[in-house]
Amino acid sequence: MAIPSFLTIYNELISTPTISSVSNEKLDQPNRPVIDKLATWFNDLGFTISIEAVPNTRNKFNLLATYSNNDNHSQGGLLLSGHTDTVPFDEGLWHKDPFKLTEEDNKLYGLGSADMKGFFAFILEALRDMDLKKLTKPIYVLATADEETTMAGAAYFAKHTALQPDCTIIGEPTSLIPIRAHKGFISNSIKVVGKSGHSSDPDKGINAIEIMHLVVGQLLKLKQQFKDKYHNDGFTVPYPTLNLGIIHGGDAANRICGCCELVIDIRVLPENDIDTIFNLVCDTLKPVMDQYPNRISVEHAVIPIPGYECKKDNPQLQNIEKLLCKTAETANYSTEAPFLNKIAPTIVLGPGSIEQAHQPDEFISMDFLKPGKMTIEQLIKDFCL
Ligand SMILES: [Zn+2]
Repeated sequence: MAIPSFLTIYNELISTPTISSVSNEKLDQPNRPVIDKLATWFNDLGFTISIEAVPNTRNKFNLLATYSNNDNHSQGGLLLSGHTDTVPFDEGLWHKDPFKLTEEDNKLYGLGSADMKGFFAFILEALRDMDLKKLTKPIYVLATADEETTMAGAAYFAKHTALQPDCTIIGEPTSLIPIRAHKGFISNSIKVVGKSGHSSDPDKGINAIEIMHLVVGQLLKLKQQFKDKYHNDGFTVPYPTLNLGIIHGGDAANRICGCCELVIDIRVLPENDIDTIFNLVCDTLKPVMDQYPNRISVEHAVIPIPGYECKKDNPQLQNIEKLLCKTAETANYSTEAPFLNKIAPTIVLGPGSIEQAHQPDEFISMDFLKPGKMTIEQLIKDFCL
């Protein structure tokens, strides 16, 4: 059955809100309406649809659409992957309706137009006129849940799938430049509990800010150790970074501070194990913890996401670089690649610019329309014909 036009599909995706938010439950929306629309269109093109609930989410779903002319569905071929959710939007800063595709000045505006619901419209557009009967290897399209928050959709899929594609493409907006690696991140919250009292006699209390001062001293040593110990030439900042991001403590100048919290952000290299780095944070703070027993706690502020790297000499990567006549780069943002890379070599590559992701008046330049479709066609022909 014929599917709607490219712009109709694009508009339907944008006008079906799928915001995900962990911190604000009221903002969090179901993604099933978009999943169902995708299911209809891919089904109309002859794909087999599988929709699965993702555990530990607020009723979110992954979709896998499969087209295969062989019985052996799980061998080779290409997996095209995208996330169905968007970040929340700041109403006061948008000049356009975030939930309507607006065409203006050679741009398509809308929440998710670049990051990255539109990617599915590009895939459908590339498949529309293709003679799928000729394909010798399967095409898979994966639509994931909650990428913008916990990455639970991709993590769950990667853990449970039996698929073995030759390559995975995540269509995040990379301006159609292949991305082969990015850093991961860890955010830790460090809480210090002191003992409050009147400022006139500091010895009668335990000042949490003074303890935090020692904590910060230790963390700055760790920051330097990261720089000295780890190195990856693929990144412009070639070592793990440690940033002191938020600090809150105390409630009055004339009170001994009873409680202080620090939140740090660590950007790890692909080769850094998340648990090892977390243990280094704890080990660094051990001398202060020993000095002040049961007063310091460290925990993850958000679920840590590992880094990822597809090595420069990976044959699938080299194949794509040759096909597109482009050299792969590394990025400084996070994607679902650390999870999907466990199934097959994964490249992040899609139309639209990351500059517009998570921004008010998000848009995709219409200059990406033709090359975006062509790139997906090229990839499908190369991997599946
Ligand atoms: Zn994205």
